Amino acid sequence: MSNHQLDELRSQLEEVNLQLLNLINKRGDLVKDIGQIKEKQGMNRFDPVRERVMFDQITEKNDGPFEDSTVTHLFKEIFKAGLELQEDDHRKALLVSRKKKPEDTVIEVNGERIGDGNPHFIMGPCAVESYEQVSTVAKAVKDQGLKLLRGGAFKPRTSPYDFQGLGLEGLKILREAADEHGLAVISEIVNPADIEKAVEYLDVIQIGARNMQNFELLKAAGSVNKPVLLKRGLSATISEFINAAEYVISRGNGNIILCERGIRTYEKATRNTLDISAVPILKQETHLPVYVDVTHSTGRRDLLLPTAKAALAVGADGVMAEVHPDPAVALSDSAQQMDIPTFDKFMNELKK
Ligand code: PEP
Ligand code: MN
Repeated sequence: MSNHQLDELRSQLEEVNLQLLNLINKRGDLVKDIGQIKEKQGMNRFDPVRERVMFDQITEKNDGPFEDSTVTHLFKEIFKAGLELQEDDHRKALLVSRKKKPEDTVIEVNGERIGDGNPHFIMGPCAVESYEQVSTVAKAVKDQGLKLLRGGAFKPRTSPYDFQGLGLEGLKILREAADEHGLAVISEIVNPADIEKAVEYLDVIQIGARNMQNFELLKAAGSVNKPVLLKRGLSATISEFINAAEYVISRGNGNIILCERGIRTYEKATRNTLDISAVPILKQETHLPVYVDVTHSTGRRDLLLPTAKAALAVGADGVMAEVHPDPAVALSDSAQQMDIPTFDKFMNELKK
């Protein structure tokens, strides 16, 4: 074959490429028009019956040289691309993403502006056990100039025989002790049905690690007008974590704080492995404030201060840790809660 012939064939090939491009885009326009009509009629965009009819038409008319299976494969890709064109923008840019909203989300709670670039601390006992216990911690929190008090009333425990929390009664105790000291209240809710009642007592709804993919709970929390602190699941990837937050925002509630609390790895030296790099990744990929829970990620009192420093150094908007008047007798997480003098030292170090 002469060079001239080769050039001629190549030029024809390029011409066919452009025709194909033209046709593929023409098909795209048609698919978009169909998508708009389907949306108006509330019809599902993906229609496997239609797709089967089109495949049958195509393979019936296929005279080669490509095999039917190859042609089907190529058209499947074209169909998929068409379906993506019909999908709304959500898939391309999540509502929680920086792509969608470049500015930081700042959440106002009790005069604190979480996400404003300054660290904001959430401190309090693992579980609400009694009024005296919470009130003692609340006073210590207030004395440190902090505004946000935590305490679990509904405790998701590994064993059903462990202390499960005081429930609604616990929330009332937390509220009372917090009000007495001018603090806002953060507590975990585990049941979607409890959200409506609980918001009467809460300033921030916590969704715990074990419930990060409890989609009904996420939707319920997304439907109320209360900030949500969402913890990363025990074995959740960052992408799953971000998608869990998307469930909340998709229902209208964009006041979400993400909380890295350690993930499960083979390492036994700490209770979980604090994924510190998740903090800058979450800050880059989303516009939401990011916290680090140093208590549950390390499970070690001696690591609370260094990990809290690391969290702030790497760009966290705040730190969560557990404080108990007498950790030795605590009904949960007795090994890693700080007593009040330790808490004071911890805060004074972080303020330096
Ligand atoms: C908690 O903060 O009380 C708690 C149970 O943490 P996690 O959901 O991260 O285990
Ligand atoms: Mn705890």
